[in-house]
Amino acid sequence: MLPVEFIERMRAQLGPESEQLFRALETERVTSIRLNDKLDTLTFPCDFDEVPWHVDGYYLNERPQFTLDPLFHAGCYYVQEASSMFVQQALDQYVDPESVVLDLCAAPGGKSTLISQHLGEEGLLVSNEVNRQRLFILSENIQKWGNGNTVVTHNQPADFGDRCKNLFDCVLVDAPCSGEGMMRKDEQAAEEWSVKNVQMCAERQRAILMDVWDALKPGGVLIYSTCTFNQDENEDNVNWLIDCLGAEVLPLDYDPSWGIVEGTPGYHFYPHLVKGEGFYLCALRKNPDDFTPFKIKDAKNHSTGDNPDYVRTAMTWLQHPERWAIRQSDRFITAYSLKYKQLIDILSEKLTCIVIGFGLGEERGKNIAPQHSLAMCKDYKRGTFPEVNLTEEQALSFLRAEALPVPAGTPMGQVALIYEDVVLGFVKNVGNRLNNHYPNEWRIRNL
Ligand code: SAM
Repeated sequence: MLPVEFIERMRAQLGPESEQLFRALETERVTSIRLNDKLDTLTFPCDFDEVPWHVDGYYLNERPQFTLDPLFHAGCYYVQEASSMFVQQALDQYVDPESVVLDLCAAPGGKSTLISQHLGEEGLLVSNEVNRQRLFILSENIQKWGNGNTVVTHNQPADFGDRCKNLFDCVLVDAPCSGEGMMRKDEQAAEEWSVKNVQMCAERQRAILMDVWDALKPGGVLIYSTCTFNQDENEDNVNWLIDCLGAEVLPLDYDPSWGIVEGTPGYHFYPHLVKGEGFYLCALRKNPDDFTPFKIKDAKNHSTGDNPDYVRTAMTWLQHPERWAIRQSDRFITAYSLKYKQLIDILSEKLTCIVIGFGLGEERGKNIAPQHSLAMCKDYKRGTFPEVNLTEEQALSFLRAEALPVPAGTPMGQVALIYEDVVLGFVKNVGNRLNNHYPNEWRIRNL
């Protein structure tokens, strides 16, 4: 049931067309996925309709039980609402892949994985979440996506504005909002809606924007988005950015057949006009005057100096070892972008960093065992460890972290498990069983 005041407000905003919106909000939601470039798209059965504004986006005819697809757990695709993939258009048109980008409100990671793919290894993504509970799923999704170009942080917006002044080429604020655009996806969104909540959200969004503003480089790009329709949280906040902070709106090219409605300013996605949920996005440029660059002064050097033999061994597991700097904390060895090493070392002093790059291995005496995030990483060199192909049933058993029988002919020691030519993880063949170290917090439960 749509709230009465919501209906009245939408009638005032859209006129008679609002009736079509209300009807659309009563229909079934659409399921869409965005493919990871770790996957050879040619081998993936994607004879589905394409999302018009994202080259890797596809609509599915029905919603499968993703938990039972091993490729879902290997990060081969992300189940993402189609309208929100429009962020890609702002990136393509205004953000060079060689950029340092902050995704301020990032969990569960839909837009972060999209940005991570846009940047490849040329840029650096700082993916932040304030909510501790939501941090775990963000970290998991980032690691499964498999680029080493990301740092996951747990900070308040003001921490960035205060400690990282003029640092980021681009900041995405995908703001917490009243969620009007999610009303058919989530009944709770309709139940929790109220005019008071809309006003509270609009004020909180302004506070977030104000707090993070100084972290954006002059001349840098702010992408502001919500999944709500109302002007208070969308146009009013953007106009406040223009009037009070001197931001300039960046127009986006789009195909008129996509069904997007231009706001004043910004771009609206209404479910009666697009195949997707409600969404709003506006890209803005910060005034390029008064440029005081972020100072990259010497940070604590986290290099392990002359790497011990076990680290040198672990580096041979990578396709491009020359791209990575190494840190060791306790027994765990992490690889992170050498290109951004100095910056990352500084960020790790200024911010609460939860994940830096990807876990390469775990020291065990004079030896080293590969970590699960290496299996997810796009730079893992296939063939490093002997490979065993799994059936779907065996793959699900591995993902449930169950003890696995040893398939005939499996060599002793570390083995990479493969499902449909994708690496699912590593196990150690100890003769009578395969030791399964699948991360306990990621395992499939109750299915
Ligand atoms: N960008 C995410 C994605 O694409 O998967 C969705 C983000 S969701 C719309 C908004 C996020 O903002 C939530 O994860 C929420 O925890 C976070 N948030 C809530 N209050 C916040 C605040 N005051 N400052 C920053 N982030 C906040």
